[in-house]
Amino acid sequence: MSFSSDIKAELAAIENERSCCDLAQAYGMLECGRLFSASGVSLQTENSLVAKRYVQLAEHVCGVAMNTAFSDKAGLHTVTAEQTNVSKILSRFGHGKEVGVRLNRANLDCEQCVYAYLRGAFLVCGAITNPQVDYHLEFSVPYYNLSHDLMTLMGEVGLLPKCVKRKGNYVIYFKESEQIEDCLTMMGAMSASLELMNIKMIKDIRNNANRVANCESANIDKTVAASLLQTEAVRRIESTVGIEALPQELRDLCRLRLENPEYSLRELGENLEPPISRSGVNHRLRRIMEFAENL
Ligand SMILES: [Zn+2]
Repeated sequence: MSFSSDIKAELAAIENERSCCDLAQAYGMLECGRLFSASGVSLQTENSLVAKRYVQLAEHVCGVAMNTAFSDKAGLHTVTAEQTNVSKILSRFGHGKEVGVRLNRANLDCEQCVYAYLRGAFLVCGAITNPQVDYHLEFSVPYYNLSHDLMTLMGEVGLLPKCVKRKGNYVIYFKESEQIEDCLTMMGAMSASLELMNIKMIKDIRNNANRVANCESANIDKTVAASLLQTEAVRRIESTVGIEALPQELRDLCRLRLENPEYSLRELGENLEPPISRSGVNHRLRRIMEFAENL
């Protein structure tokens, strides 16, 4: 089961407390399904629970029986209203023969109705990517005006989706994990929302741990690389003119470097007699390197 179908199973099982919300959810499911116009009312879905809920709500709210067919080959459930029932369904939601489907606010009565509508819409046209992989939740709406109205409705409850046209559909989508969490919570997918929060927390912890580890190993690598170059320079001096050719303060540092290749600049400085600062060590090491280069 995908993350999407898990969530849809959770959403399809939710019972509305008020009958106004049943109407709102039925409206979301029918209007955002494959077809919702005078030419027909139908849905196509891979999800049997969604198909079942669509049939159940259409019968309950509109008082019409729906026809269901399943194609093994495509793995699709197709739910269709009898042509003679289409106008009855449309008028139940205040729609007629108008061209271009819009959101009829008269079907959203109480505050919960908005969420019920979103739940219905998501069931038939929504999808969510597994948050382990990416943060993405979308509603793929077949009608332009409706997609606009849906975005406005979402804006009113604090959701700020973006929209893009894809394969003739208007895709309303979210990319921010907080927005996805809010949307899931509003629709009633509590366990999915919690799971997303969990995954996000684990991701954040892992990212932080990685960042710290990368940072530390990068610093260690730099120290090791620098130490190797310095040791090489000292060896070169030793084997040519000898360490004694250097001034006293550089000689001590050469010895310390050879004996302690793992020391950082700070540690080198602390172990000199008298101790000197990190930048002091840096300066002396540069003089040693220059001396070796000129040999
Ligand atoms: Zn309601």
